[in-house]
Amino acid sequence: MPENTPITVAHGDGIGPEIMDATLHILREAGARIDVDTIEIGEKVYLSGNTAGIAPEAWGSLRRTRVFLKAPITTPQGGGYKSLNVTARKMMGLYANIRPCVSYHPYVDTKHPVMDVVIVRENEEDTYGGIEHRLSDQVTQCLKLISRPGSEKIVRYAFEYARAYKRKKVTCFVKDNIMKLTDGLFHKVFNEIAPLYPEIEADHWIVDIGAAKLADTPENFDVIVMPNLYGDVLSDVAAQIAGSVGLAGSANIGERYAMFEAIHGSAPRRAGQNLANPSGLLLGAVQMLVHIGQADVAQLVHNAWLRTLEDGIHTYDIYADGVSKEKVGTREFANAVAQRVGKVPERLKAAQYDTTRKEAFKAPSASPVPVWTRRLDGIDIFIQDAATNASALAERIKGAAGADLHLVAISSRGTKVWPNGFEDTVTVDSWVARFQTTESSKGISQQDALDLLQRVSNTGVTITKFESLLTFDEVPGYSLSQGQ
Ligand code: NAD
Repeated sequence: MPENTPITVAHGDGIGPEIMDATLHILREAGARIDVDTIEIGEKVYLSGNTAGIAPEAWGSLRRTRVFLKAPITTPQGGGYKSLNVTARKMMGLYANIRPCVSYHPYVDTKHPVMDVVIVRENEEDTYGGIEHRLSDQVTQCLKLISRPGSEKIVRYAFEYARAYKRKKVTCFVKDNIMKLTDGLFHKVFNEIAPLYPEIEADHWIVDIGAAKLADTPENFDVIVMPNLYGDVLSDVAAQIAGSVGLAGSANIGERYAMFEAIHGSAPRRAGQNLANPSGLLLGAVQMLVHIGQADVAQLVHNAWLRTLEDGIHTYDIYADGVSKEKVGTREFANAVAQRVGKVPERLKAAQYDTTRKEAFKAPSASPVPVWTRRLDGIDIFIQDAATNASALAERIKGAAGADLHLVAISSRGTKVWPNGFEDTVTVDSWVARFQTTESSKGISQQDALDLLQRVSNTGVTITKFESLLTFDEVPGYSLSQGQ
């Protein structure tokens, strides 16, 4: 007999305990070879004064098992509470979020009968670093960070997933017509990695029209990989248009740890009434079983669940007259699934996993990042000033330029307003003055940049931050402002 795999389980808040009990009951009945270690997370922990929502000793369990099956939790509104989900993703390095969004026509109402899309969302970068600053009375900012290793890891994961699950196409969604450097890097990495998987079709859409097409004709998509924010929004959209967010599971995968959950929240108003649908968490647990090398059990559970849907045994959220046969509660639904272990669906496509695979597939780690020849060409100085206009500001700071550094432009919210600005451009109280070297220059030193900052500061303006203008092998690593 193979040894049991230890897993850490948290029952969460709201409907969490009920759907976790239902899920564990089904796993046990299907013969999952797991040893459960239970930890406390969520509302109780938050309200006991631990703003992270997880007790320090719970990390000990996670460090030991490295596999986390987590029910949804309630994050108290307001106060300094952090999202435990974001904390867990970051602490455990869970860089990939995998959300299969499938329709179960005709058993669950959907406008898209043949939808079977897997969203692969980058889970650590983008605006989710939460690096935000208030620059002035009027302006706030959030930094969007996209790295080459981060992009490479997630894009490789998407292609490895497609290969492991015999998927045909991977589509990349980005907005690199606007964010040429950040989303541009993600897209560039996608184009570099795609040819390494010649048997898989690679496709790309700008995220806005891509999202519209996904919502309209999801049957044309297979695996979709995208940066964090787009993935967060579009995976909920995809799950909902498939039939219900209540039916989708989610895997968060890292190099050493993994966390599995439902995509929905703790639905407090449904708690304690034996009403909630445990399907999302159950499908998260199915992903977990595949991850820990128990694809045989995953297949049994998944097919028993599909058969239960097919037999019309439905919780209130998917119950429909004429289609459903029996409206059941959480416990009765779990019993119905457990009773069907060993059965397969008759009309829905049966789940089939590679039962020879005894461990999770590993995405190759990111390749070494090349070393570039860097040159400092100048700096963007952010200035707060509510009273001034662009021309007056230019007159005030122009003289601070050095022998090889010139004030080349002033912009407001990314639009050039000096020189030759458009008089109707609406400006705010935060300005960016770009000081740059001439084209023939060999660049400036860091000290030159600091000296410039000092001279600009001496003019009496309020500097809020500065950014370096670097070129990498002669390619500018900074954007031009609109109109520059
Ligand atoms: P929610 O997903 O909990 O519930 C929205 C509605 O969807 C519910 O009122 C209910 O009608 C329905 N629903 C959701 N899951 C269902 C299920 N399994 N069965 C039947 N119906 C279901 O979203 P919310 O109300 O915005 O959030 C409630 C709490 O959950 C908040 O505190 C939020 O922070 C938290 N949350 C946690 C997670 C997580 O732990 N992963 C994710 C999202 C939200």
